[in-house]
Amino acid sequence: MAQVISDRRDVDFVLHEQLQVEDLSKHERFAEFNKKTVDLIVTEARNLAVKEMLPTRELGDKEGCKFDKGKVTIPESFHKLYTLFKEGEWIAMSEDPAWGGQGMPVTVALAASDYFNGANFPFMIYAGLTHGAGRLVEVFGTDKQKDLFLKKMYSGEWTGTMLLTESDAGSDVGALATTAVKNDDGTYSITGNKIFISAGEHDLSENIIHPVLARIEGAPAGTKGISLFLVPKIWVKDDGSLGEPNDVVCTGIEEKMGIHGNSTCTLAPRNPSGRREQRDARHVSDDERGSTAYGPSRI
Ligand SMILES: Cc1cc2nc3c(=O)[nH]c(=O)nc-3n(C[C@H](O)[C@H](O)[C@H](O)COP(=O)(O)OP(=O)(O)OC[C@H]3O[C@@H](n4cnc5c(N)ncnc54)[C@H](O)[C@@H]3O)c2cc1C
Repeated sequence: MAQVISDRRDVDFVLHEQLQVEDLSKHERFAEFNKKTVDLIVTEARNLAVKEMLPTRELGDKEGCKFDKGKVTIPESFHKLYTLFKEGEWIAMSEDPAWGGQGMPVTVALAASDYFNGANFPFMIYAGLTHGAGRLVEVFGTDKQKDLFLKKMYSGEWTGTMLLTESDAGSDVGALATTAVKNDDGTYSITGNKIFISAGEHDLSENIIHPVLARIEGAPAGTKGISLFLVPKIWVKDDGSLGEPNDVVCTGIEEKMGIHGNSTCTLAPRNPSGRREQRDARHVSDDERGSTAYGPSRI
């Protein structure tokens, strides 16, 4: 059973005999990651994957996600698993400890992820997208954005997504029609319709941070005119506390064979009732001609 995920002998061979990963501990940055520590990390990851994650894969696929009036509930068994995953600090394994990461070498993090992804990939989409969106904030965000979002994302308290795809903009992401209009206070109002959004809405975390690709009014057509925005599901106030829901409307969930445990959503940063036309966002790039820094990752 255990070896269906990833063979420990193969993992040890690649880490130690092929890559001599413990040599990294000669560098100050990775000093604590000697062979003993690396082996411990891999053993812990394997235990979590085999004992806790693998049994929930089939359960999660059979139960699936449920959509009701804009809210999505995910498989029951994923909740306990997510708590264990957060407690083990597995979301930001290789990231900077200053922001709540574990600071381990990426090679070691990948060995651990091999077990996790093999055990329950639909579950890992929640964690993986949170890690990816957090990393995006760390690399491209302003100091203020990092202060507001990063620790909460790397700890898993808030999750993350990526909103790129639209019905007429898949591989051709430059065709996207989502618009961004600058507000007087420096925020932007985003309006559009996104599809295939993995982990787009769910009941796993109190907030979801959506990196959204949109075109600022007047920006050129094609990829040159695209900018990237951070749109929290619930607005985050300047002191870090949660404000009002931010009108990111989930209009449905979609069928994805084999990953029913992950909520693939259609999402509209808009309010269909027309109660409030303006949505707020924080612009990640200062370049108003558009940022191509964060492109579609699944083509
Ligand atoms: C499991 C899964 C999870 C996803 N999660 C997300 C997510 O979280 N967020 C998000 O924004 N999107 C997500 N997507 C959407 C994904 O980014 C798109 O599916 C992808 O960009 C392709 O777009 P499309 O499906 O519209 O296919 P198309 O762009 O319509 O492509 C269909 C086919 O045509 C081919 N094709 C397209 N253009 C050309 C060309 N010029 N020349 C030759 N061949 C071409 C493609 O290779 C493909 O075989 C997800 C998709 C999947 C499958």
